[in-house]
Amino acid sequence: ALADAGDGPPAFFSPDMQHQAMEFLRVEAKLHEALSHGGLELWLQPKVSLDGRRYSKAVEALIRLRCADGRLLPPGIFIAVAETTGLIRALSRWVIEEACTILARWHHAGTGVPSLAVNVSALDLEEDDFTDVLLETLARHALPCHALELELTETTLFAMTDRSLAALNRLREAGVRIAMDDFGTGYSTLSYLHRLPIDVLKIDRAFVQEVHDHPVRAGITKAIVSLAETLGLEVVAEGIESEAEAAFLTELGVEVGQGFLYARPMPEAELLAWLDMARPCDSGTD
Ligand code: C2E
Ligand code: MG
Ligand code: MG
Ligand code: MG
Repeated sequence: ALADAGDGPPAFFSPDMQHQAMEFLRVEAKLHEALSHGGLELWLQPKVSLDGRRYSKAVEALIRLRCADGRLLPPGIFIAVAETTGLIRALSRWVIEEACTILARWHHAGTGVPSLAVNVSALDLEEDDFTDVLLETLARHALPCHALELELTETTLFAMTDRSLAALNRLREAGVRIAMDDFGTGYSTLSYLHRLPIDVLKIDRAFVQEVHDHPVRAGITKAIVSLAETLGLEVVAEGIESEAEAAFLTELGVEVGQGFLYARPMPEAELLAWLDMARPCDSGTD
């Protein structure tokens, strides 16, 4: 049957693959357009203290791509394309510039959010000048290094070359905070974990989901909390969607969380309104 494909596409290139290839090119074109004419947006999701007061000490920036028709593309659609095409370099620079612009605005306005986290890709750290560009951007905006946090996935951190590791060490020595994202989904060697220049472990949503109903997830979360304690790392639980999850995580010793239960990622103006509403002094306890 394969040989009878006639004048259609070659049989090894299925319609599905052809569709994927077209989709890839379409996304690449959108990315190009957004990088040169605007269309990228940083949406913001607070990290929330789980001690009942629910205020936010930190915020994570999550990128979105605005299409010409107004629709938003989530990063799941275009980060991989950016990485494959090399556009990630320009994209990450845009993210860092935009994050520092936002932070500087907040610092001036006394918004009271001391730090902003951005997600970076493994390829960013391979760039010769990534560290210089990042430190230069912070300095140009008169921001202290600890105002910026970099989130790298567990998989990225464990596959790092010596060069990337040196770059990361340099950033951390300068005061930039480093978080390991999606922790628990990769293949970390525990004995190596303590040698990585990190400050925060973010427990992946896979363990947070229905954690109160899944003894294995609870056990893993508990182990992560105790490991973090031993290594002097902060713990953040990702993807909290229910009060039951939040209550159980608190019992397990998790102090900071993120998730739709508290707030979805949102544009800056909405985030500022959310922060205003969630100020610690509103709790009445202190
Ligand atoms: P991540 O850094 O682990 O971000 C968490 C993802 O979970 C975000 O998806 C967020 O919107 C979503 N999320 C947050 N709370 C909940 C919840 O309660 N329930 C559920 N179901 N989901 C929740 P998003 O924004 O689509 O980002 C996906 C991934 O794309 C991020 O995972 C990160 O790895 C990557 N990414 C995002 N922005 C950037 C960026 O600026 N640069 C790079 N290189 N990667 C980015
Ligand atoms: Mg992240
Ligand atoms: Mg994550
Ligand atoms: Mg993730």
